[in-house]
Amino acid sequence: MVKWLFVGFTALFGFMLNFGFTPDVETKLKALERVTALRLRVFFLLCRVCLGLRAIITSGLRSTAQQAALHAADPRNAAAGSSSHERGLSADVNFLDAAGNNVLRKATPKSVWEKSGVVALAALCGLRWGGTAFPGYYDPVHFDSL
Ligand SMILES: [Zn+2]
Repeated sequence: MVKWLFVGFTALFGFMLNFGFTPDVETKLKALERVTALRLRVFFLLCRVCLGLRAIITSGLRSTAQQAALHAADPRNAAAGSSSHERGLSADVNFLDAAGNNVLRKATPKSVWEKSGVVALAALCGLRWGGTAFPGYYDPVHFDSL
């Protein structure tokens, strides 16, 4: 019994090492609200294992000043004080293929995001997708737990 626990733990540990996140992703996940971070971890792991896509977080937790600057640059971004990013409930994510090409980003068409399987996996993990969440504003890199 103990032997099989050891074998199982070793296999799991090896798996986690191979599919671990980059230090930058880890830092950004740790700054988020705990349940949101856990949902994103499972989501990223599923994307890696099932689709071969590696997630990078382009924006996670934001200060009110950072949100105000984004809103000033593009009024379609939430006003300061009203973004889920300021509460650690969301992350903006791009996905890289095995060769390191950024294949899912802000400019990527909705049909490509949907066909990739990423959108379905996000829903499975209880994450809302910005590609359809905001009337009049297509924000496919945005995932939140609202
Ligand atoms: Zn966002």
